Amino acid sequence: MRRVSGLISVLLFLVAFPLVSHVSAQSGVPTPESVFGYQAGADFFLASYDQSLDYFQALANASDRVELMEVGRTSEGREWYIALISSAENLANIERYKEISLRLAKPDGLTDGEARALASEGKAIVHIDGGLHATEVAGHQHTPQFAYDLASGDGNPEIEAILDNVILMLWFSMNPDGQNMVSEWYHSNIGTPYEVSSMPALYQKYIGHDNNRDGYMLSVPESRVVTRVVREWEPQILYNHHQTAPFPARIWIPPFAEPVSEFVHPLMWRQVNLLGMSMAQALEERGQTGAVHMGTGFDNWYPGFIDHAHNFHNVTSFMTETGLYRYATPHFYTIADFPSRARDLRPQSLYASPWTGGWWRLRDAVEYMVTASFSVVDAAAKYKFDFLYNRYQAARDVITTYRNGPPYGYFVPQEQRDPVAAVELLRRLAFNGIDVYQLESDVQFEGRTIPANTWVMPMDQENANFLRQLFAVQDYPDLRQYPDGPPDQPYDVSGWTLPYQMDVRVIEAAAPLNEEVRAAMNLVQGEASPWDSDVADAEPFDSPLGVGYNTNPVAAGILPLPGRASGGGSALAVDAAQNNAFKAINRAWREGGRVRFQAGTAGDSGVAGSTGRYIITNLNSTNMNAIVRDYALQAERTSAAGVSIRQPRIGLYRPWRASIDEGWTRWLLERYGFEFSSVYNHDVIAGDLRDRFDVILISDLSSGLILNGFAKGSVPPRYVGGIGDEGVRAIDEFVRAGGTLVTWNSGSLFAVDQLHLPVENVVADIARDEFFMSGSLLAMEVDPSHPVMSGMPDRSKVFVSRSPVFTVKEDFEGTVLAKYQTAGSPLLSGYLLGEEHLHGYASALDVHLGEGHVVLLGMRPQWRGQPFGNFRIVFNAALYTAEMAAVGPENSAFWAPPEETAESEGEGQQGRRR
Ligand SMILES: [Zn+2]
Repeated sequence: MRRVSGLISVLLFLVAFPLVSHVSAQSGVPTPESVFGYQAGADFFLASYDQSLDYFQALANASDRVELMEVGRTSEGREWYIALISSAENLANIERYKEISLRLAKPDGLTDGEARALASEGKAIVHIDGGLHATEVAGHQHTPQFAYDLASGDGNPEIEAILDNVILMLWFSMNPDGQNMVSEWYHSNIGTPYEVSSMPALYQKYIGHDNNRDGYMLSVPESRVVTRVVREWEPQILYNHHQTAPFPARIWIPPFAEPVSEFVHPLMWRQVNLLGMSMAQALEERGQTGAVHMGTGFDNWYPGFIDHAHNFHNVTSFMTETGLYRYATPHFYTIADFPSRARDLRPQSLYASPWTGGWWRLRDAVEYMVTASFSVVDAAAKYKFDFLYNRYQAARDVITTYRNGPPYGYFVPQEQRDPVAAVELLRRLAFNGIDVYQLESDVQFEGRTIPANTWVMPMDQENANFLRQLFAVQDYPDLRQYPDGPPDQPYDVSGWTLPYQMDVRVIEAAAPLNEEVRAAMNLVQGEASPWDSDVADAEPFDSPLGVGYNTNPVAAGILPLPGRASGGGSALAVDAAQNNAFKAINRAWREGGRVRFQAGTAGDSGVAGSTGRYIITNLNSTNMNAIVRDYALQAERTSAAGVSIRQPRIGLYRPWRASIDEGWTRWLLERYGFEFSSVYNHDVIAGDLRDRFDVILISDLSSGLILNGFAKGSVPPRYVGGIGDEGVRAIDEFVRAGGTLVTWNSGSLFAVDQLHLPVENVVADIARDEFFMSGSLLAMEVDPSHPVMSGMPDRSKVFVSRSPVFTVKEDFEGTVLAKYQTAGSPLLSGYLLGEEHLHGYASALDVHLGEGHVVLLGMRPQWRGQPFGNFRIVFNAALYTAEMAAVGPENSAFWAPPEETAESEGEGQQGRRR
């Protein structure tokens, strides 16, 4: 780590700032300053995770109220610790309090009286963390101060009451890798013109800001570590700090804006609101003005926020957003900086003490956060019995509700188009605390035979709301900004239905599970591995499935149908409908095998054709069998057929203005064993791309970001700019010389505009109140005879989010791979306004340009690592070289432009678009 001693000259300019402490200092307990050399939250100083860990170790050594606990490893393999803070007596009896917490969380068989006794005896277990968005720095900078205040508060009755009644699990850093990165970046720029510049990298190895969107998929180790620990301890409260207050408010706190999730026990919302209101009161008591609630920004609809995902498990979970300038650099605001609506400084019911401007320092944000965190443990202490007993009541009610009403459960058959996708889904659910059973024999249920080995998830379990929220079809409510006003549109995505995204066939039990089903159900139990394996899939992925989820015994026991290869022959045909086929292909190449592509056949007019497939050759039988076994492939032994394809040289464009979608693409390609290189701006501008690459992928990036990148003066010079005109020419030359450019969502608009493709985005200019396609699942008609769509069903469920919709111009040469239906709504789950703007248009194209191809995808096929049913579109496209294109059938009859477009080519369409 870069040391901070060189910064003294900068720090001489600091304005002295009084320490506002909530408690009197006690000798013997080290202050943050004694370890950092600076006060927590001082101007121009950001403690790294390593420094924080040093501080917490010193604190734990000095205080019998603080213990450190190692919880796992980060994506970069760093040891990750949290602090347990409570009275010495509570810490000595911690196993008993953990046991009570778990028993109340899983209440089957418990009477109300027994639960009351346990709630009286138990202590409130509270998770508070330093925030997982590493550039929202006050979160991880406030935790040392908060811990110090608690540990040094001997004799203060408020603090004694807290420590007697609460066991605080303080995640002093929720993103240790990111905290180190940000601290290092900031300190390297202090005193330069780039002091507050953006970091040219994601603050989580793959997913950056989406580390708060991974709360149910748990794709990265950090998400799994948090969820595993939450399930091991079952705290009653989970509080996650953020730092993006709606300006000029200084802190946003619950209640949340509308809409909130459908399947949450109402006590959770009530308790979130209680904590929010007591927090506002605490801030006001300390003269910390500018707290605001609700508003239109922060709704609680998407269940993937880590600060929301646990509400479905009856853990009262929430977040706050404190004001941030940038890093630890202070900033002065005047009323003139405020938006006009806020300049009157009018007290409002939920914004009672408007902030009047002035200096805003990191220390201010730290102190607001310390007050906020204090107020939560204070309320937890005061309402200790209620939080524990209500945890029990919520769980009891959930079980009763689903015992007496539908859905009563879900069956997931082993036989699936992609059998491993079902395992991937169920392992995640099990890791999230869902009990998964398996049938030991065939059973009769509702007039059908459900075969042995089918997985069953009965809904009369305490975490059933979580399961329901992920399996249900989302119908985003029709909210208006004001009565009869324009629609109030989603803050984040609106539809995520997991069986659709992962294309897993699920049978919902609309009737109670009968005796026969119950008798045949066995709880899945496997061999759980130690948590060190959390980190295993942070390594480039070349492992069999499921690594990282095996720390949960149920997840470890969910196994796919064993791999098998029917037929005979020296070659192995693998079905692109199984995502693991691509792991197999990539491994075959690494082991010296060869891969062939056997084209599908074109369909009739307007109809999809039959799918192509991949054939692995030139491997010995032992290696072939190992591939089938390791990846649980349902494959076929055959003779070599089709055209031989070389392993493509794949490049993934990686901008300095770090892109989460690029990160997810990297994550996906690594997990499936693709070899590829990151392509930076200078690599593109250097030209001769065709000499180095066969396929280049551009994720969901805007043209402005790709072309211009960071503006001059905003970041250190080496990170300035994008690919510019030179880069565009290089990409154009690459494609014309026979390369394949694969783009999706906004990236495809970059290709259309910059390469002057004869394609148009028909929804480009439609007003948001007339057409809006938020993150949702839509039906598309797909032609699997095109190599890029190999293995996709004719009618596919595809994830879109503000995606382009295509038609073609007269000089278009190429093929349409996917299209929207001509009538009715294609919406499967989520929110879609103006379905008529989609009717009959194309959603994916293969455009011929010179000797090469541009694949345009109007969708997000690897969105947040979730649509397992769409991943293969990216995989096929990454392999789509000239050899494959040459044998793919040209199914030109699959699509024709809708009537209106043909008539209005080049002109007007004023009545339909604006
Ligand atoms: Zn945040």
